[in-house]
Amino acid sequence: MTQSYNAPKGTADLLGASARGWDFLQQTAREVFGRYGYESIYTPIFEQTEVFTRGIGEATDVVGKEMYTFEDRGGRSVTLRPENTAGVVRAAIQARLTDNGAQAKLYYAGPQFRYERPQKGRQRQFYQIGAEALGQTSPLADAEMILMLWEYFTALGLSKRSMRLLVNSMGDDVCRPAYRESVASFIREHSSELCEDCARRADTNPLRAFDCKKPECRAVMDKAPRISDALCADCQQHNDAVLRTLDAAGIKYEIDPKLVRGLDYYTRTVFEVQVDHGLGSQNAIGGGGRYDGLFQDLGGKETPSIGFAVGAERILLALEAEDVDLTKNDDLIVYVAAAGDEQRDAVFALAMELRGRGLITLSDLQNRSLKSQFKQADKAGARYVLIIGEEEQQRGGVTIRNMENKEERFVTPGSIIKMLTK
Ligand code: AMP
Repeated sequence: MTQSYNAPKGTADLLGASARGWDFLQQTAREVFGRYGYESIYTPIFEQTEVFTRGIGEATDVVGKEMYTFEDRGGRSVTLRPENTAGVVRAAIQARLTDNGAQAKLYYAGPQFRYERPQKGRQRQFYQIGAEALGQTSPLADAEMILMLWEYFTALGLSKRSMRLLVNSMGDDVCRPAYRESVASFIREHSSELCEDCARRADTNPLRAFDCKKPECRAVMDKAPRISDALCADCQQHNDAVLRTLDAAGIKYEIDPKLVRGLDYYTRTVFEVQVDHGLGSQNAIGGGGRYDGLFQDLGGKETPSIGFAVGAERILLALEAEDVDLTKNDDLIVYVAAAGDEQRDAVFALAMELRGRGLITLSDLQNRSLKSQFKQADKAGARYVLIIGEEEQQRGGVTIRNMENKEERFVTPGSIIKMLTK
């Protein structure tokens, strides 16, 4: 026997229920985001490495530890995208989508790659769906983005009760540097009470210490300076306006001063949706924020923007925890069966005709007995089996069997479609 292979560690094949789940997430995104005027964009799976080091930031975990970076045969450093916002912005700059103050609303769906320790809801190749509103300065854009994310999750079948919406402001170039410094000093003062990683973060990326899951670090960071006390007047005003619009829309949220998302490009509004069940520590099913400086970081003109990304694996786990069943296929499936070998050609021709009329139609291609054709029909979840035997051929029709109530009757080809689509 030759060696057989498994999918690489941290990756999974999407098949059966998970493939249907991924289709459902994409289809719902098209419907919901489409109503807000979003159009799809597909960027390359890999980019020049600098797109991510400049965009996401050298000091982040994603860039520092998690990227799949390699040299291609031409000696260029390329990286499998760890997220899609930097790629979308690179593409928008390249295509001049937002020149002269133009706006663009784009959404994507596809795999992302991070070299992380795999666990429930955390993969090395994982699937994200995300939306980006480019060229938007108004706080209304932040509110619309958050409301669209919420609408998406509820449209998928997640109950409002099971989700928590967290929002925060991370400040901007004016107020964040001083705030960062105050958090760095705080960490230095408390370094003996923090884990090694967090203590080191004073010099590299102090705000990340808020994200540490270790209880001792969390307890210390609870007492750290809060961004809400450090916002400049413009950021404060922007934040107030976002929250006012959310209030007016009637959506419930929690202000979480410790919410600092893991990518350096965020400015001002950040948000995250978490769930309580089915996910353990990887409980963030989606999140995002404003990134007013990213276009410039990638060589473009100043283009304030905002976006989010949601994680497919985690959403599917959350849906499962709420007993939303994606394994059932509700499609109307028809199976055409031959009673004997003489009817195989007629079965093949009828199956082709029914597909032409828009019906999902299966038939046997392996000369199976009538009994095993019925078994196949059952397994495929066919609602009707159309049987062609000698008698049916002579009378110029088929016997139609309703697989639920087992009723059978003879019908002519002309009335089949009418009957099935009733
Ligand atoms: P981020 O791009 O880090 O802001 O993450 C956005 C969303 O993507 C998260 O809320 C998760 O749902 C999902 N996500 C991020 N990293 C992973 C991963 N390694 N495996 C599965 N899902 C992930």
